Amino acid sequence: MSVDYYSCDCCGDARYEEYVSECEECGRSLCDECIENTEGKDWFDIINGNGGSVPKHMCPFCNGSKIDNDELLDYIVKKYKLNLNEEKKLFLNKEEN
Ligand SMILES: [Zn+2]
Ligand SMILES: [Zn+2]
Repeated sequence: MSVDYYSCDCCGDARYEEYVSECEECGRSLCDECIENTEGKDWFDIINGNGGSVPKHMCPFCNGSKIDNDELLDYIVKKYKLNLNEEKKLFLNKEEN
């Protein structure tokens, strides 16, 4: 018997399968601690009652309480019309010096 570990997209922790659920909206994996508790319902009620999916309003990414760094980077690159390849080169050079 092997135990499957899933990593949480929010905090990055690896957890047992039963403690990680998927958001029904964005499909991100969320651990019990990162699912937003609302109206006295805890993650266990949600997971058990909902076939393992987390409603949008309980997902920290969907409800805006957590920001995805990749999406933020995308946004910044577009907003300031950055050349991502140039920025990567600068970043790597910075690391070497
Ligand atoms: Zn988490
Ligand atoms: Zn979500």
